[in-house]
Order: sequence, then C-alpha cells, then structure tokens
Amino acid sequence: MHRSKSFRRTDRVTPKGRHVLHFERKPGSKPHCAICRAELNGIPAKRNAKGRTINSNARMFGGVLCSKCSANVIKLASRIEQGEMKLNDIGIVQRNYILQMISH
Ligand SMILES: [Zn+2]
Repeated sequence: MHRSKSFRRTDRVTPKGRHVLHFERKPGSKPHCAICRAELNGIPAKRNAKGRTINSNARMFGGVLCSKCSANVIKLASRIEQGEMKLNDIGIVQRNYILQMISH
C-alpha cells in the first residue's frame, strides 16, 4: 500500500505538532461513452462502489453509451427495420450497437 501509486499521499500535522503522511485511495476514472468518449452522467467514479452495474442507468445501453449516442443508435436501428436505410450506410462504430438492437 505504501509503495502503490493508487494511493494519494497527504501531509498532515497532528495536534501534538508531529508531521505524518496519510494515504488515501485516489478516485477512479469516470466512465466514458464508447462512441464519442464523453463522460457518462449518473455513474459514480468511486472505486468499489458496489460495482458500476448497480449504479448504472437502467436505459438501453446505459453505462456504455451517452444519451445522445444511444438516441442516435435507436433512431438508426428503427430506420433499418423500416427499410429506409441499409446497414452499409451507417458507420462501423454504430453498426455494432444497431445489430445488438435488431437481434433483440
Ligand atoms: Zn456518446
């Protein structure tokens, strides 16, 4: 623990005036959208917060895509199901998530 860099060192002075080092866990990194890399809202960055799946959004693609990207994916998937667009018209990044939606 004292050699690990995942702990932040903080200098503290005790009431008696002694100088001590305290070790605190660094906060984890925030989850990001898999398409546009924007920070996801509503999910704590805290480490070991009972897992991210418990604190995730209940929405489709919650905890994976941001709200804008998931709305876009849902829109494109419905257009493909209606026959207005073809799979080849869509970028390769979004195609994966659209195939997931259609198979359900
Ligand atoms: Zn996004």
